[in-house]
Amino acid sequence: MNNGTCPRCGSAEIISGLHVQGGDTRTVYVDIVEPDPPNRPFIWMPQNARSQFLADICGACGYTEFQAENYKGLNEISKKFSPRR
Ligand SMILES: [Zn+2]
Repeated sequence: MNNGTCPRCGSAEIISGLHVQGGDTRTVYVDIVEPDPPNRPFIWMPQNARSQFLADICGACGYTEFQAENYKGLNEISKKFSPRR
């Protein structure tokens, strides 16, 4: 909804930046953890990144888009994953 209109119905009545909530006290998030290196040292503290989500909701039809808040952190950790073949 970058242009401020709904891609489904074209309405400009967009409710932006709402935090996505989980259950009673839990917040929905994704978590990514650095994989173990080939020669894992005895003491190994993998880096990780976590992100919650913001929602933009069309007030006319309900279409919703999600935006990861910590997309930069997730991307940084994901680059530590070697491609599996
Ligand atoms: Zn809409």
